[in-house]
Amino acid sequence: MPAAGIEKAHMTDLAPEEFRRLGYAVVDWVAAYRAELPDRPVRPDVLPGGVRAQLGTLLPEDPVPLELLLSEMDRVVVPTTLHWQHPRFFGYFPANASLASLLGDLLSGGLGGQGMLWSTAPAGTEVEQALLDEFAAALGLDAGFTFAGGGGGTIADSASSAALVVLLAALQRSSEGRWRDEGVTGRERVYVTAETHSSLAKAVRVAGLGGRAIRVVEPVPGSVTMSAEALDQMLAADAAAGLRPVLVCPTVGTTGTGAIDPVGAVTEVARRHDVWVHVDAAWAGVAALCPEYRWLLDGVAEANSFCTNPHKWALTAFDTSLLWVRDATALPAALSITPEYLRNPASDSGEVVDYRDWQVSLGRRFRALKLWAALHVHGLSGLRAHLRRHVRLAGALADRISAEPGFVLAAPRSLALVCLRLDTGDPQADDRATRELLEAVNDSGRAFLTHTVVDGRYAIRIAIGGITTGEDDLDALWEQMRDTARALRPGAATHLGSARKSTGRG
Ligand code: PLP
Repeated sequence: MPAAGIEKAHMTDLAPEEFRRLGYAVVDWVAAYRAELPDRPVRPDVLPGGVRAQLGTLLPEDPVPLELLLSEMDRVVVPTTLHWQHPRFFGYFPANASLASLLGDLLSGGLGGQGMLWSTAPAGTEVEQALLDEFAAALGLDAGFTFAGGGGGTIADSASSAALVVLLAALQRSSEGRWRDEGVTGRERVYVTAETHSSLAKAVRVAGLGGRAIRVVEPVPGSVTMSAEALDQMLAADAAAGLRPVLVCPTVGTTGTGAIDPVGAVTEVARRHDVWVHVDAAWAGVAALCPEYRWLLDGVAEANSFCTNPHKWALTAFDTSLLWVRDATALPAALSITPEYLRNPASDSGEVVDYRDWQVSLGRRFRALKLWAALHVHGLSGLRAHLRRHVRLAGALADRISAEPGFVLAAPRSLALVCLRLDTGDPQADDRATRELLEAVNDSGRAFLTHTVVDGRYAIRIAIGGITTGEDDLDALWEQMRDTARALRPGAATHLGSARKSTGRG
């Protein structure tokens, strides 16, 4: 008769040897998938419903070999997947699921813990605290954002979740502690720009403030960035009208064009009006790891909270959104609720961080491991090289666009984000052609791009950030775009070739 432990393993989970064998097979599959990516079309040729139509039953009554799942990956999943890790994925902001970070995620899953309290995950909690403290220093964030400085950091699943919990903390603070019991009054207001990420508008609604709570601050004339003067006036007028300004959210690197709000000036105004400032640097913030981009965080030292996403541009798989607050008690003050079953001496001592009080959900994974793993494999130097490579490639692409008749930058290049449109002097026709250009590139499968609207004009965004994206990928994209633009508008080819260069806003 087998030993009880082995018998139990066979009944409830994979035996260790079987796990090893299947684990190696899965790692082999991922390695081959990543290696073959450059030869695949970036975007799948699939219509809505086209994935389900190919699926058999997903719930076998009796066990089937896991290898069959890998063949379903090959047969159904891979051909119908938008390949975010493809070197010619330039859409949205690329997602940096580095192989190193996947291994860290595996370690986290292997431990399989729940990090809601320090006592349920002492290692998970303190590694995360230490990592966030050190990462803050590497970014050049003010020491007030570290645990030693009275603040502290956490790893949220997303910048959207980070914005929500920060808003709740700001509501608690601005209501002098009444929000937890009394809820919102309908007079709360949140200040953004037209370019602020939609997650803020969502957080406002999830928090029950209603869409009317969103106040869009006028931009600095001639730009899209938040005007501190306009904010000042709006805050004063709202307070005088009996409204309650709760939170201001400047962005470092907007999603549309990578615009950077004047955080220092905004923060100075907000502090005078005693309003919480949350800096959303979801994409661009990690660039401050490079000393030459430290200026991105100018003014952040005076903000109340700051967020940046390594899952966008710092070699770490989703979900890794780093959130720092200057006051370590602010999130627990808003979110901590302690049923009897969670009581424990460590929490009662007040000497530990219980990360459940820094987020909406109770349970949480050991997310720090994937960032830690990526840092082991690549180091800060590797991370910096990765960021600098993309900024360099973006600079070269922007130069090509500026030099090409018929193309213009739709906005100034921001770090590794380039926005462009076709320009022959006929706005309607140019918008149509720009859209057709994007569609033609995406349909070809040779690259993937997304769009935005700048000054009411359709623009293509090229977000350079793929882990394996190199010069050859940008060369191929540029040639394809140039040739496609000519082919799309044969009548305008001469015009495209001789158009007076417009500088756009670039
Ligand atoms: N903020 C900015 C500036 C973004 O660009 C994005 C996503 O692109 C977000 C917030 C939302 O990020 P997440 O997916 O982590 O919620």
